[in-house]
Amino acid sequence: SQENMSLLTCNASSGKIEELEDDCISYFIKKKLHVWFKQRRGKWELGTILSTSGEEASVSFSNGNVMKVARLELLPANPDILEGVDDFMKLSFLNEPSVLHNLKFRYSKQMIYSKAGLVLIALNPFKDLSIYGKDYVSAYRQKFIDTPHVYAIADAAYSDMLRDEVNQSIIVSGESGSGKTETAKTAIQYLVAVGGGSGGIENKLLQTSYILEAFGNAKTSGNNNSSRFGKLIEIHFTTMGKICGAKVQTFLFEKSRVVQLGNSERSYHIFYQLCAGASSALKERLNLRPVSEYKYLNQSDCVKIAGFDDARKFQELMRALDTVQICEEDQELIFKMVAAILWLGNISFQLTDSKNHIEVVDDEAVTSAALLMGCSSQELMAALSTGRSQPEDGTNTKKLSLQKAIDTRDTIAKFIYASLFEWLVEQLNKSLQVGKKCTGKSISILDIYGFETLQKNSFEQFCINYANERLQQHFNRHLFKLEQEDYESDGIDWTKIDFEDNQECLDLFEKKPLGLFSLLDEESNLPKTSDLTFANKLKQHLNAIPCFKGERGRAFSVRHYTGEVLYDTNGFLEKNRDLLPSDSIQLLSSCNCELLQFFSKVFSQSQKESNSFHTSVLVSQKQSIGTKLKGQLFMLMCQLESTKPHFIRCIRPNTKQLPGIYDEDLVLQQIRCCGVLEAARISRVSYSNRMTHQEFSGRYGFLLSESNVSQDPLSISVAVLQQFNIPFEMYQVGYTKLYLRAGQIGALEDKRKQVL
Ligand code: ADP
Ligand code: MG
Repeated sequence: SQENMSLLTCNASSGKIEELEDDCISYFIKKKLHVWFKQRRGKWELGTILSTSGEEASVSFSNGNVMKVARLELLPANPDILEGVDDFMKLSFLNEPSVLHNLKFRYSKQMIYSKAGLVLIALNPFKDLSIYGKDYVSAYRQKFIDTPHVYAIADAAYSDMLRDEVNQSIIVSGESGSGKTETAKTAIQYLVAVGGGSGGIENKLLQTSYILEAFGNAKTSGNNNSSRFGKLIEIHFTTMGKICGAKVQTFLFEKSRVVQLGNSERSYHIFYQLCAGASSALKERLNLRPVSEYKYLNQSDCVKIAGFDDARKFQELMRALDTVQICEEDQELIFKMVAAILWLGNISFQLTDSKNHIEVVDDEAVTSAALLMGCSSQELMAALSTGRSQPEDGTNTKKLSLQKAIDTRDTIAKFIYASLFEWLVEQLNKSLQVGKKCTGKSISILDIYGFETLQKNSFEQFCINYANERLQQHFNRHLFKLEQEDYESDGIDWTKIDFEDNQECLDLFEKKPLGLFSLLDEESNLPKTSDLTFANKLKQHLNAIPCFKGERGRAFSVRHYTGEVLYDTNGFLEKNRDLLPSDSIQLLSSCNCELLQFFSKVFSQSQKESNSFHTSVLVSQKQSIGTKLKGQLFMLMCQLESTKPHFIRCIRPNTKQLPGIYDEDLVLQQIRCCGVLEAARISRVSYSNRMTHQEFSGRYGFLLSESNVSQDPLSISVAVLQQFNIPFEMYQVGYTKLYLRAGQIGALEDKRKQVL
């Protein structure tokens, strides 16, 4: 349209009206174009400039009000013709209110997917939409549809993998409840649909999610099916593009949930599923009771989830366990462990003397737990109520205080559950094993929980937020840094885009010896330390670092890329050490249960491998949680670096988990956190496809109608571009590579297919 074209000529790339020339403002007035104005309540309102004088403008709003406002407070709105465009890159004016409005408009029309350049934005619809399934898969595969969709991203990854023979990754991020896990599942479903057919592996792959969800998901206050771990699923393909294996890696499993629950939260689904769905024979073997009789579960006011049938889910789980070939004996062992944990939670203690010494109450809870674990009640009671003061002499035992005894009991329960989860993942991996025929490449799908800022932020948030800083850097590097470096070194004309570099914050976490994790490990390993001495140590060593701030008492804050977060160090040392009393480990290794023996063996090995400088007398040392996480993320990043990334940013439009509600503030905050605007801006000026002249001429050179006299790849490439009339603003020719804007390669590929 004419209107749109002339508007584009007065478009300021940053989308701010202050940068619009005066004649552009008069154009706005003459054409009665809309502008955005931020009301005092913070809501953006659409208005029309009536006139301007100096730095002031008089603006009329749809409710009839006319107000005088500072010109600087206005942002240009987009012409109506751009309402609801599917890629923010296409907006004439790229600013926050325009993006927010556009997302809202699309959401109201059930269009939950949009693009910001290379990034897919997915709004959680909180209801089932009929935009998935076989017909949609083939429509996206055959490119009958090109509207933004997870399928389109999965298809791009699949096609790029086959075409370029490069490993791909799909990185899904977002807050809890934004739809990451559903989105990741949808991507996997697509890949299974297009890459299936080579055997049973696809079915197993789909079934793994039932198992991971039963054991690793729980109801939280924000999400009825919240994953309490991060995961990377790597799907391997043959050179023909058929799935031939997969591997699951998990991160940051939340084990505190096994013993401690907030109100309106539940523990892991499996506990409720087992109690509701086990056959009466199984119930009898496990001495199972209703959920309400277990303290680990009834400490919360919530035992049921609306619309969630635990018994039916249990049947699904059993089928999934069969599909991935976990044998009946192992299934029985798994359920025994789950039941043992429930009974452990019911074990109680009583005081024996005035010195706060305690002993275990010998009741049904002890007998049942011991029976399920494969030890005697006496052994279990001894491990829970005594602790060796001097393990060297081995005989000198003393009674534990009540709190210590409870902690020991809970530590054993958490240890068994976390080990069980890890073991299950290993079994899944055995079943999905990448075969010898897997000669092709892989697509990895990452679903890891997003940035968390709670009322009270503890060690868990500290770890999660650190992981997100790492991922953010990966995102930045790919979208901004590498792109710019590549252009500059290849002599391409390029306007720089500013982006927030978070290296400083990562250094704050990672630097040795003066970084958050190093100092935490040091304090965790020294005697006579506490969370308070840790907090003081941080203040002493890190106060000069701009993104760190010591706060009152045990607190400190970190300026993350999303904003400042206040952490309370309460429990940091203990959680970081993640220890198991040596009595407990001895007990577990002596149990007549293969799984427990295995878990304790793995634990003992992890101690030997660690090179901790301090060995406590009471407990066995192993790698701290912080150090382990740092190592895991380092490996993850190395793995992702070798892939071509595809980014999906999930957004939750409201915290009520209800369809149709669009909370602008909530959405805005998420858009800011994930750099949506910057991503759209960079894509608008970037060249998303790049190939060396050799690659390009090798792939498309044969399409030339006249045989080219020159054999030089650069001139062949240019001749191809000219023959197909690719407009110059769509490409640039660098010293080594050809740079093409989005959409151009697709057109050439179509030509190529017609000829072949
Ligand atoms: P996250 O993993 O980000 O915490 P989930 O993927 O578990 O979030 O999504 C939370 C809930 O939102 C799901 O249980 C589901 O009810 C709903 N949901 C998410 N994505 C979709 C979608 N594409 N279509 C329908 N419902 C969805
Ligand atoms: Mg999830």
